[in-house]
Amino acid sequence: MKLTKRQESILEFVSNCGPVTGERIAEMLSLTKATIRPDLTVLTMAGLLEARPRVGYFHSGKSPHRVVAEKLNGVLVDSVKSVPIVVNENCFVYDAVVTMFIDDVGTLFVVKDGGLLEGVVSRKDLLKTTLAGHDIHKLPVGVVMTRMPNVVVTKPEETVWLAAKKLITHEVDALPVVRKKTLPDGGEGLEVVGRFSKTNITRLFVDLGSGY
Ligand code: ADP
Repeated sequence: MKLTKRQESILEFVSNCGPVTGERIAEMLSLTKATIRPDLTVLTMAGLLEARPRVGYFHSGKSPHRVVAEKLNGVLVDSVKSVPIVVNENCFVYDAVVTMFIDDVGTLFVVKDGGLLEGVVSRKDLLKTTLAGHDIHKLPVGVVMTRMPNVVVTKPEETVWLAAKKLITHEVDALPVVRKKTLPDGGEGLEVVGRFSKTNITRLFVDLGSGY
């Protein structure tokens, strides 16, 4: 978080002399209280200063980076995820390409009955198959996808930060958002309930930057 010189001076003064009233801060800077009011609002909303009636302003003890980290760790995958675009593993590569265009996504999740995750197929998987000269009207995506248990997943209750770290660590563009599901035979599967991609992170970044 980038502070202006004046905001930095206010923060330093309040750290050293707080709790202190708005009038005192303005006096120290030789400015009017009205002039510094927007700065006090920014510093308070950012969580760097705290204000208490009849006491004044005091330093929250948090650094600007700490405040940003706390904000990011408070956002869960559930609140930013998109609708998953899924295909069956018997879907032909040609139809998978068409689905990617129609639904405007770069990653498809491959599911079996009940929406249970079986694999992931990306743009490059499909491109590779096409360049290799296979008949894409006859080849099912099940042959070219990355298959379970090698699929990296996230959960609705995971933090966006942790899910983003998975994208970076595993060098992939998207993660299926899954929930554990118990099957009638007692076994367990992962039901696909969403899609978490780099676009979700970019959107969140833009929203946070706008001060929402
Ligand atoms: P692109 O192929 O468009 O660059 P990715 O970087 O996401 O997209 O995919 C690279 C490879 O990783 C592909 O082979 C794909 O099947 C695989 N992949 C994509 N997403 C995942 C995931 N969540 N878990 C495991 N593998 C994945």
